[in-house]
Amino acid sequence: TKSILLKSRPKGMPTEENFEFKEEELPELQEGQLLLKTLYASVDPYMRGRMSDAKSYVAPYNLNEPIAGGVVAEVVESRNDRYKAGVIVLGNLPWQTYSISNGKGLNQLDPDLAPLSYHLGILGMPGLTAYCGLLYIGEPKEGETVVVSGAAGAVGTVVGQIARLKGCRVVGIAGSDDKTAYLKKDLGFDEAINYKTTDNMPQALAAACPDGVDIYFDNVGGEISDAVYGLLNKFARIAVCGQIALYNATSVPTGPRVEPILLKKSALMKGFIVGDYAARFPEAATEMVGWLKAGKLQYEEHIVEGFDQLPQAFFGLFRGENTGKLLVKVADF
Ligand code: NDP
Repeated sequence: TKSILLKSRPKGMPTEENFEFKEEELPELQEGQLLLKTLYASVDPYMRGRMSDAKSYVAPYNLNEPIAGGVVAEVVESRNDRYKAGVIVLGNLPWQTYSISNGKGLNQLDPDLAPLSYHLGILGMPGLTAYCGLLYIGEPKEGETVVVSGAAGAVGTVVGQIARLKGCRVVGIAGSDDKTAYLKKDLGFDEAINYKTTDNMPQALAAACPDGVDIYFDNVGGEISDAVYGLLNKFARIAVCGQIALYNATSVPTGPRVEPILLKKSALMKGFIVGDYAARFPEAATEMVGWLKAGKLQYEEHIVEGFDQLPQAFFGLFRGENTGKLLVKVADF
């Protein structure tokens, strides 16, 4: 099997130097074990946090061990009664072309439900993040204005579409004209702003949100968020989902104080980790599948081909290369 190990902890933006490729023979399967062939591997922004050794909600990756993340794999050999050879599973698995598992923490996937890769995106962790953050923290009501940053990514595209389904005015913030056009034309966003070419974000946002902002779904943080706070309405809700603009920061970022705004507007700002809502995943997943099958949700993937491209694909998240969910196809099913 081929694996990709974390060789050193990145300072700032990660580079190829931080990773090492290794090839080795896997041992024979023991009783209870499965041999898995990686089909799709997800690259997600939170992995940047695990590459550092700072304390967080998931443990850091160990140096000289494989990176791990969301993977869709085929069971190619089984000595485990729960999984037969030929079935497809989803798990938190190492960046390896083949790996051995004891079956714990795996979920068997139904290949007829949707394309297998969807379980790393709209029907997986990012989709659930969008659903739970928007509906359980944002609690959108018809006619309200929802602003979403990182709008053209895996989470943002789903947030905006669900907000539209709930009858909200939806304004997306993203990093290219292609992305803003996609949000408006393909996904039905009411407005979309390219933060890279707009000189005055507060002004552009004010024009896009004539009735102020009731819900801000924050995927990026930093100055983009600073521009939104001034527009919050009374009883606004802010779901702090991600802060990707700060993940490669090498010093502690500072910004305007937000507390006086929250106070004056009786606004709620709440950080969350998708796992907080695990008890509600079944209802969320059922509704998402229903919307997808009914054609109410559009879904875009940015698929990079080849195991060796995993580090570069990961860097792509920070360069904004993706529209929709970024993932790597490792092998055919
Ligand atoms: P995306 O598919 O949105 O990919 C990342 C996108 O972030 C890029 O395409 C880029 O788009 C944008 N971006 C990168 N750097 C910057 C920057 N410096 N400033 C502004 N935008 C930037 O990723 P996901 O949908 O998977 O994740 C979105 C966010 O949600 C992340 O912050 C992630 O950590 C968070 N998240 C949180 C979860 C939770 O449980 N709380 C679970 C899943 C995700 P652009 O061209 O627009 O710049």
